[in-house]
Amino acid sequence: MKFVNMQDILLEKLGWNAFFEANFFPYKEKGFAAGRVAIEHRKAYRLYTELGELSAEAAGKMFYEACGAEDLPAVGDWVVIRPLLDEKKAVIHAVLPRKSKFSRKAAGDNTDEQIVATNVDTVFLVSSLNQDLNLRRIERYLTLAWESGATPVIVLNKTDLCDNVEECRDAVESVALGVAIHTVSAVAEEGMAELATYLQNNSTVAFLGSSGVGKSSLINKLLGEEYFKIGEIREADDRGRHITTHRELVLVPSGGLVIDTPGMRELQLWEGAEGLQEVFEDIERFAADCRFNDCQHESEPGCAVLAALEKGEISSERYGHYKKLQKELAFLHRKQDQHAQLEEKRKWKAIHRSVRKQLKQKYK
Ligand code: GDP
Ligand code: ZN
Repeated sequence: MKFVNMQDILLEKLGWNAFFEANFFPYKEKGFAAGRVAIEHRKAYRLYTELGELSAEAAGKMFYEACGAEDLPAVGDWVVIRPLLDEKKAVIHAVLPRKSKFSRKAAGDNTDEQIVATNVDTVFLVSSLNQDLNLRRIERYLTLAWESGATPVIVLNKTDLCDNVEECRDAVESVALGVAIHTVSAVAEEGMAELATYLQNNSTVAFLGSSGVGKSSLINKLLGEEYFKIGEIREADDRGRHITTHRELVLVPSGGLVIDTPGMRELQLWEGAEGLQEVFEDIERFAADCRFNDCQHESEPGCAVLAALEKGEISSERYGHYKKLQKELAFLHRKQDQHAQLEEKRKWKAIHRSVRKQLKQKYK
């Protein structure tokens, strides 16, 4: 199966429908075209359009009038564009109203919203049947999903590793009344056809779930080919170097779209941050006895976690998982600080610019 030839793509295949058509109408009259955001990277965008794949930037006016990320394009968005076909580029003039939106408020003073995916029709809340199934966590994901406007569907993966599938399913049902639940196995290829039905009618599906539950495996199976091969694109960066980037909105060859953005993966981590203690209760109990409050449990003297690891009271697998999650969270915190600093810079630049403009007018 080859990657879908973008030249043959109609907007419907990209998820366009009457809702977007109605909102697009005033722009259509003025000769604008529409496109859907497949990648967002530092305010540069890659779009799917009827004219093929185009790289794009937001029009200056739109960019400077934006009050926050909320007003700028995000992956999944339908945008109003002026194509510059000779250059295979487009300028984005507006974002059409969203049918659904996954976002999170940045922590600290940074009240800006970070949008991680939009116009998702169905969100698969994926859990693994082999780890202790965490009902509280499923409840949190359900809350996130309901807030987003997308329809949640619970996916319990790895049936091949579980001998009490029905019991687990009943337990989940008790906290998720009225929500569809599917028990599947990406490895044994069980229940995949049921999941594929959610892609019908050119629907957009996204995934939420902790690291390791099998999201990538499920996406691979749904796409019918190695996702990473389908999604990869090579292009020149601003210095002309070749870099490999990844489409975050992927067209499934048999119809429908899958959104898999780093932001979506972070969302579950942030959700996990508060749950870290709960999920790793066993390890956190030892950590309370470490000599240093800020012990990283790596090589510090008097580390109770390492001692427990040595005595076999914590398995090395579980310790590895704990460290991995901690590292990812630390990385996210750093990245968020950077993001906040950049936003601050941008705001000040805009203020300086408007002050200069006022001064110029005053002393003209
Ligand atoms: P992600 O972090 O949620 O994207 O999870 P991955 O797709 O990377 O899967 C994590 C691990 O679980 C990998 O080693 C997969 O091979 C394994 N895995 C995924 N689905 C299944 C399944 O249905 N059964 C079994 N036994 N293993 C699975
Ligand atoms: Zn320690």
